[in-house]
Amino acid sequence: MKVNEGRLWGRLQCLGRIGADERGGVTRPGFGSAHAEALAQVATWAREAGLETGRDDTGNLIAVLPGRDPDAPLIALGSHLDSVPNGGRFDGALGVVAAVEVLQTLREHDVRPRRGLAALGFADEEGNTFGIGVMSAQLWIGEIPPDRYPTIVDGEGRSLEAYLRAFDVPGVPLVARPALAAYLELHVEQGPVLDDAGASAAAVEAIVGISRTTVTFNGQANHAGTTPMALRRDALWGGAELALAVRDLANASGERAVATVGVFEVTPGATNVIPGRTRLRIELRSPDEDRLATLRDEVEALVTTVARRNGLTAATEPWHHAPAVPMHPALLRATQDALVTAGLPERTMPSWAGHDAKVMARRLPVGMLFVPSKGGLSHTPDEDTDASHCAAGAQALLHAALRLADEATP
Ligand SMILES: [Zn+2]
Repeated sequence: MKVNEGRLWGRLQCLGRIGADERGGVTRPGFGSAHAEALAQVATWAREAGLETGRDDTGNLIAVLPGRDPDAPLIALGSHLDSVPNGGRFDGALGVVAAVEVLQTLREHDVRPRRGLAALGFADEEGNTFGIGVMSAQLWIGEIPPDRYPTIVDGEGRSLEAYLRAFDVPGVPLVARPALAAYLELHVEQGPVLDDAGASAAAVEAIVGISRTTVTFNGQANHAGTTPMALRRDALWGGAELALAVRDLANASGERAVATVGVFEVTPGATNVIPGRTRLRIELRSPDEDRLATLRDEVEALVTTVARRNGLTAATEPWHHAPAVPMHPALLRATQDALVTAGLPERTMPSWAGHDAKVMARRLPVGMLFVPSKGGLSHTPDEDTDASHCAAGAQALLHAALRLADEATP
């Protein structure tokens, strides 16, 4: 039983033209007209494939292939239909089109697993309308309750409640959200690892945890000419040493962590003044929660050492921590085995970016599959993935979904 590569590819190209912008990319923010058009188009494909198709009251597409047991919660496959401004044709779209392709292929082969399957197309993952990332998955699991809809507003003050009231997709009826047993997501990697390795697909082991900290070094601003080198308290020396030491920590992790100093402010920022203060924002990511905790401690220790060595005072303010989200062991096993069943080598890697699955994991067992992003490019019109890799990912998705749908409990 094989997914239809030509059909999958044709639909991806078609979806890529909905919200096509003048810079060659896709601009399809959640709840906008292009998003509604994309939802209508995918719903048409799903309906023509004989799936029970509708949308929930927060703009998510739902297409269902019923199972033999009408009372059993469904296995959901999906991703998001929105895009970043001037984004690519694959981010999110692939996971939705592949989900419909899997359900359609099963139906064409008269396969009726014990549990039903649902293809989901989330309305807003990128967060470009309201500034809330992965918003639709949070709406789905009830983490953002309806009484908050009036308080969530876009840049012009228009509320989510107003958007939802106006959101109309003719021909796609409102349906209740089905009860789910598990969530599987196929996505483009959005990084260079699979492309670099020449691999077609991988099972995701975990979505990385993220820790963000602001570090401030205070020294003494002073005359850049009259102050001898030995008598300076140059805050930039501390910041520079710390930035490179943080890089070395990540380099020593055996590719199990990345570290970025994305913000580096120097005060007062004048050519003839010794910097009196530097402020760095440090971001750490790792699929291993223990390692992330260790890295945070190591950065703290480094701050103390570097400050002492340079005669500075220092303050560390952690301001964000999102723990790593391991895939459910049964779903990880199912996605790994599905690669083999699809004729691919077994391959596992972390997801270094967040996805709908990260939020769904707070309520459900989740699993993910990746296919390569050419050149590691994403969130740009240059985003690209070979048709054969898209089909390989969809094929593995089919095998993983079928296994979970026939198992007693995921
Ligand atoms: Zn995405």
